[in-house]
Amino acid sequence: MQKRKMVYEGKAKRVYETDQDGIYIVSYKDDATAFNGQKRGSILGKGAINNQVTNHLMQLLEKEGIPTHFIEQLNDTETAVRRVRIIPLEVIVRSIAAGSLATRLGLEEGTVLKSTVLEFCFKRDDLGDPLVNSSHIRALGLATDEQLSFISSYALKINSILSAYLQEVGIALIDFKLEFGVTDSGQLVLADEISPDTCRFWDTKTGKKLDKDRFRRDLGDVEEAYQEVMHRLLGRA
Ligand code: UDP
Repeated sequence: MQKRKMVYEGKAKRVYETDQDGIYIVSYKDDATAFNGQKRGSILGKGAINNQVTNHLMQLLEKEGIPTHFIEQLNDTETAVRRVRIIPLEVIVRSIAAGSLATRLGLEEGTVLKSTVLEFCFKRDDLGDPLVNSSHIRALGLATDEQLSFISSYALKINSILSAYLQEVGIALIDFKLEFGVTDSGQLVLADEISPDTCRFWDTKTGKKLDKDRFRRDLGDVEEAYQEVMHRLLGRA
């Protein structure tokens, strides 16, 4: 498979067309940003880790019946994926209060939520990705009611699968962000990434944060935390 024109460059990834119709190559970068691009830096080895962690988890989800854009990993930082039109929503699933939820609702970080919280944010960097509900989504035509219903049930199922799986390697899944897309043939699939950039992972024994909050909050050991997640999921070989 040959890379052709770059079609998108985001904060952490580049996306290329290929010589095969309907297939894109995603290339993960070490660049890191936080607070809507106000904080910038680089996390050595992050691209390779996020690529491999994402692919590992996407394949696990596929086995459990969740359709994804994943096709095959090409090398440490690059993966072939199905071309999709991304639905402009960040789908956030939360089991434990942290980050913006803790701030918005005045909850102490670490408070166990009585039931899973599902949130949607409109993907608009210029507006700071505002929180929207199903009536906003319908009114703006961001997704159909049918798509939103599938997105919601997939998101909750993904939370159950990933929480149980991560628990086995001593990681508590606090919250995470998903993105979905629609393929050329109209199938709704999980897209984007599932990595320490897009999830909050806390060590179940020590509570140590093993995710991007180490970068956001200048906690140190950023590279080590990303490596720790990869090692626990993919082994130390
Ligand atoms: N998240 C993300 N991209 C975003 C915003 C949030 O991947 O643009 C993830 C984040 O890593 C966390 C979850 O979504 O796992 C919830 O994030 P929150 O709303 O608490 O925002 P934050 O406090 O990170 O600004």
